[in-house]
Amino acid sequence: MPRKRENTFTCPKCGKKATNPIRTWTLVSPIPDRYGRVTITIMGAFICESCGEKWNSTIQKIKTGGEEKREAETREEPYTITIDLNEI
Ligand SMILES: [Zn+2]
Repeated sequence: MPRKRENTFTCPKCGKKATNPIRTWTLVSPIPDRYGRVTITIMGAFICESCGEKWNSTIQKIKTGGEEKREAETREEPYTITIDLNEI
């Protein structure tokens, strides 16, 4: 399972990395999942030092209220199968 955890965020325009958000806020999902967990998303606003591009990015997602934390982590990246119809 690919795991990519970086503390840097890349400018969508020029590719320069920004390390610190200029502003952060949290989004709380109003609907709990079927295990009763609520997802809290920490968002960050970034500004590129190089080109001045502003963008928002998800910094972290936290699930609260559930009992099985490990399960929550494994379910972050669902198993998907991609089928190319042209190859059938
Ligand atoms: Zn940039």
